[in-house]
Amino acid sequence: MYFYYSAMNAGKSTTLLQSSFNYQERGMNPLIYTAALDDRYGVGLVSSRIGLQSEAQLFQPTTNLFDDIATLNAAEKRHCILVDECQFLSKEQVYQLTEVVDKLNIPVLCYGLRTDFLGELFEGSRHLLAWADKLIELKTICHCGRKANMVIRTDEHGNAIAEGDQVAIGGNDRYVSVCRQHYKEALGK
Ligand SMILES: [Zn+2]
Repeated sequence: MYFYYSAMNAGKSTTLLQSSFNYQERGMNPLIYTAALDDRYGVGLVSSRIGLQSEAQLFQPTTNLFDDIATLNAAEKRHCILVDECQFLSKEQVYQLTEVVDKLNIPVLCYGLRTDFLGELFEGSRHLLAWADKLIELKTICHCGRKANMVIRTDEHGNAIAEGDQVAIGGNDRYVSVCRQHYKEALGK
């Protein structure tokens, strides 16, 4: 099991879709998942900022990923599982994915954020950091040129928000990746 983690806008979805393409190019059959946080479109879609996109299975908080993948794999052999937005996995779902690796012998590649806008680990990321075989950081940079490892949530006026729910869907909030120093400055620390 691999955990590719980063701040926002480090090209996680692009990297996922490139991996999917590489598997398909070799005649293999990848299976893509993404979080069902925003199911307005009815189907899952992983899309990257440079224009690539692919359909995806959706995982809900209640989805048993081991059962789901075992069923799909029995119907049609799968060579790789790719999970976007993996920070939204529950602890149980990360465990289920380790079972996919250990019992079904299918590699699982997870892509997501390490921390939220408060600098706290997401549940999925916490357990991926603990249990993944390999941790790979996808780097992005702050406006100052240093490595960005923090995420700021800003309101519609561009002001940093220092409290609120971990996940905000459909508002006017924006997320910006910054270095730790500029994160502290933005929050007035
Ligand atoms: Zn900076």
